Amino acid sequence: MDMSWANGATRVAVLTGAGISTDSGIPDYRGPDGVWTRDPALVKAFTYGSFMADAEVRAAFWRTCLGHAAWQAQPNAAHRALAGLERGGVAVRVLTQNVDGLHQRAGSSARKVLELHGSLHEVVCTGCGERTPSRATLDRVAAGDGDPRCRACGGILKLAVVLFGENLDAGTAGLAERIAAHSDLMLVIGSSLQVEPVASLCAVAVNAGHPLVIVNRDPTPYDDIATEVVREPISDVVPRICAALAAT
Ligand code: ZN
Repeated sequence: MDMSWANGATRVAVLTGAGISTDSGIPDYRGPDGVWTRDPALVKAFTYGSFMADAEVRAAFWRTCLGHAAWQAQPNAAHRALAGLERGGVAVRVLTQNVDGLHQRAGSSARKVLELHGSLHEVVCTGCGERTPSRATLDRVAAGDGDPRCRACGGILKLAVVLFGENLDAGTAGLAERIAAHSDLMLVIGSSLQVEPVASLCAVAVNAGHPLVIVNRDPTPYDDIATEVVREPISDVVPRICAALAAT
């Protein structure tokens, strides 16, 4: 692969999606073995309106969370390579659609990781807005509480992730756009780029004149405007890309 686009890139925006975590044992959503593909009914549990309206939907949601592969998952070579790039002095900002926290676990500093879709590791009260670590709520679910409520106000608790029908945090979305516009390179890893407004960050980078490199197993709607599209396995190719970026 000709990586001339890596030359001179000192500020790198990295947009990551589910595909970077599949090698850590976390299934993606839309692939052949994806969460939505295997169980389309779960989409309802991950839709804000039905989650808020129905205690049984919430119980199904929390049961799914309890069994989520993310609790046992470890970062893989791709997460580690990105963390290493930051340590090596390249200005890396990770814009992630993932809620698994694996970038931070791999060593990327928390303030350099923008969790566009929130985090599994926090629970938010839909009544008073209080945020708490997920563990305490999940322990209550494991003990049989299918609809855990806020201890302070009685409000419905929800994982601090963006469900279908919810908007991204406006401040986070605006910051992501500025990062896409002002980096030297936009590197997309493991995202099918089917979810807006995240996907259009690619157009922001291209319109600002920056190279766009997409590493993904399947075609994306942005392949046509990409400088390079890479179909190789993520945990093989991302360390090589990071090595090229570190050498510039
Ligand atoms: Zn509350």
